[in-house]
Amino acid sequence: MSDSISKKFFERAQKRIPGGVNSPVRAFGSVGGNPVYISSGSGSRIYDVDDNEYIDFCGSWGPLALGHAHPAVIDAVRYAASNGLTFGTCSPLEVDFAELFCEMVPHAEMVRSVTSGTEAVMTAIRLARGYTGREKILKFDGCYHGHSDCMLSAAGSGLLTNSISFSQGVTVNTAEEVISVPYNDLGKVREVFAKESSNLAAVIVEPVAGNMGLILPEPGFLEGLRELCDANESCLIFDEVITGFRFHAGAYAQLIGITPDISTFGKIIGGGMPIGAVAGKREIMELLAPLGKVYQAGTLSGNPVALAAGIVTLHLLRDIDPYPEMARLAQLFADIVNAASSDVHCATHGGVFTLFFTKEKILSNLGQVQKCDTERFASWHRHMLGRGFYMSPSQFELNFVSDAHSQPEVEAAAAATIDFLKSK
Ligand code: PMP
Repeated sequence: MSDSISKKFFERAQKRIPGGVNSPVRAFGSVGGNPVYISSGSGSRIYDVDDNEYIDFCGSWGPLALGHAHPAVIDAVRYAASNGLTFGTCSPLEVDFAELFCEMVPHAEMVRSVTSGTEAVMTAIRLARGYTGREKILKFDGCYHGHSDCMLSAAGSGLLTNSISFSQGVTVNTAEEVISVPYNDLGKVREVFAKESSNLAAVIVEPVAGNMGLILPEPGFLEGLRELCDANESCLIFDEVITGFRFHAGAYAQLIGITPDISTFGKIIGGGMPIGAVAGKREIMELLAPLGKVYQAGTLSGNPVALAAGIVTLHLLRDIDPYPEMARLAQLFADIVNAASSDVHCATHGGVFTLFFTKEKILSNLGQVQKCDTERFASWHRHMLGRGFYMSPSQFELNFVSDAHSQPEVEAAAAATIDFLKSK
């Protein structure tokens, strides 16, 4: 690595890009070493500027359920791009996308397309406040909902690896509008409802938490949130930026039979292009401008190239149904690793997994996750990178299996992990 081309890029980058990166976790801050510069990807593989090949389990943090550069997605992007990149007008793909999306997510009576998950959540929060006429938001420690000011309180993902519990530059007033309690703790949620009932606009939750590593909702947790929100006339927001179309060809909410009032999406619905979406009940969605008085707008919202990639991705996911196989492969990795060592716990759900460096077998909140051995995680990450596996570079993230991964690739990743675990 000492004279690698990646290293030279990183040196140049640090002079002109803060920290050398355009999103903090990419800097490898919590795993050490220099980030590798990826120049291309195909299927399950990515290639760096030094000609190293990696089997990629980060998958751009979730959008690539079909793998890198899927031919049908690339064709759709090429075709759309050749007709013009953006018009800032109404265009046909907006309608095609909205119809397809609402068909695949039936509780979404209407949807608005935006350009990132952050933007989708920002709009969802504003909608909930506009609808209820209230201000406070309840969230959960370790859930990450993008980087809008009010969502940075006790957030997960890059804030955890950078040891930032709250970002500078956020006003005290904004901070006080958000209450954060431990994930899976309905008792604490009830206490907040008891105290704040008339102020609480919304509860926002990742229905499966992915930004503190994989934490599943305990039985009754999400149902309890639905009941409390109903009783208090607060909005329930499911942030499905990761979970949407990740576990089946629709929203996670459909799998568990809970209907949120508002949902946010991103990642997979753009097939790798910048996208986000906010969706929900008609009476709430119709509050958005120009119909209603909740403002939202975007120069590139509903961008035709992004929607073209999204539409073909959603069609393919529905047609080929890669979900059982993705889940089988993630489970295979977990089973092999968990059987080999009691020093780690690989949590898995559908096609995602997190290898926690802890002897605990059940993790249900951020406090437990933070006790993991992050130095050992970092050594494992470096070991895997050296063996040709690009794992997500933080203990507090997910790894993603795509339709392009094969059983031998997953078995090889598990074998490399076992080699590491034996080599104390
Ligand atoms: N919500 C969740 C659950 C996320 O995981 C993320 C990003 N990882 C976001 C919102 C923000 O999305 P984006 O990075 O596209 O702004």
